[in-house]
Amino acid sequence: MSAIDNLPPLREVIATHQLSARKSLGQNFLLDLNLTAKIARQAGDLSNCDVLEIGPGPGGLTRGLLSEGARKVVAVEKDTRCIAALNDIAAAYPGRLEVINGDALEINPLEHLTPPIRIAANLPYNVGTELLVRWLTPPEWPPFWQSLTLMFQREVAERIVAQPGSKAYGRLAILAQWRAEARIAMSLPPGAFTPPPKVSSAVVHLTALPQPRYPADAATLSRVVAFAFNQRRKMLRASLKGIAPDIEDRLRAAGIQPTERAEQVPLEAFCALAREVQNP
Ligand code: SAM
Repeated sequence: MSAIDNLPPLREVIATHQLSARKSLGQNFLLDLNLTAKIARQAGDLSNCDVLEIGPGPGGLTRGLLSEGARKVVAVEKDTRCIAALNDIAAAYPGRLEVINGDALEINPLEHLTPPIRIAANLPYNVGTELLVRWLTPPEWPPFWQSLTLMFQREVAERIVAQPGSKAYGRLAILAQWRAEARIAMSLPPGAFTPPPKVSSAVVHLTALPQPRYPADAATLSRVVAFAFNQRRKMLRASLKGIAPDIEDRLRAAGIQPTERAEQVPLEAFCALAREVQNP
């Protein structure tokens, strides 16, 4: 029996179902159930929430989320080998775990979830950033999720919470901080995973804002930031040249010096610039 429920320890689950980790699927498993329960607690009060989990694997975080009281967990796993192990968890928590065997990039899990919804995952590194950008750029305010509690490589986590003037500051920081309150909630060394990855990891917790931190059109802000950071070493008057006529005037109107570099410009000024760029 395990530390948090009546199911077998994860090493036993992995042996029974022959779940040797596959690099191609970004499989670095968390086998310490005290740790997965701790990560689940970072997601906040789960008792009246549905939780979307991407990539449950053998189910360590899934069990953490369920034992911490999630109303329901919808778990989307691409690796068919994991499904029998996940179905055993579903049987131990009747009516509270729905397992979907599929690719998180292809399916829309929304029809399986009832608000309020939180998302929690130890994400596969190869699709993690793409999923995050999708969750950060839906058209609706507030988004369908109340919070995101996500494990990333430390370097990606730092890009999400980065402030102007730092090397990590860029598109991810701007999209995340425009839409949410973002903080690093936990740091984990490689040895916390099986097999250990090459780099350290961190859990980022993002709480959705009810409305944009500063007014701006989402698509225009995205475009401005993509242009600005695409050539981050250039002065903004050069990197943004193609985006709108009279770009130097628009930069000045937004309170930005045309000779500044993207790395120095705070989110509020990027939002002002997006409004200027939208002006005819
Ligand atoms: N949650 C488990 C844990 O913490 O031990 C496993 C995390 S492991 C880093 C990532 C998981 O995502 C693997 O189980 C992998 O099979 C799954 N995965 C990879 N690509 C996926 C995709 N496109 N859609 C859904 N799951 C995916």
